[in-house]
Amino acid sequence: MLRGGDPYKSRHRRRAKKVGAVGSFDKGDVDIRRAKQGGLCHYCGEVLEIDGPRKFQVDHFIPLSRGGTNMMTNIVCACPECNRDKGSKMPWEYRPARFAPGCRRD
Ligand SMILES: [Zn+2]
Repeated sequence: MLRGGDPYKSRHRRRAKKVGAVGSFDKGDVDIRRAKQGGLCHYCGEVLEIDGPRKFQVDHFIPLSRGGTNMMTNIVCACPECNRDKGSKMPWEYRPARFAPGCRRD
């Protein structure tokens, strides 16, 4: 079996494994997700940068630490600031005006 060195995959997989989350995704999934968001941050709507120091980050919509999965259906692309500020908050705790409690990602 061929094993690629995809940094997205291995980093998230390790973290997901640690908390016992199910699922996995790869860079292609991330690209699809970013396109679905129109290339904008899922939280603040800023244009996501695809390179450089402000490169977008992959966020777990429901944090792994709060029972979220590591499946593609639970990942969003966010700017570094939103990802950092959201931390392990639920989306509606982070931005109550944008997300209703218990809402799904899309
Ligand atoms: Zn943002």
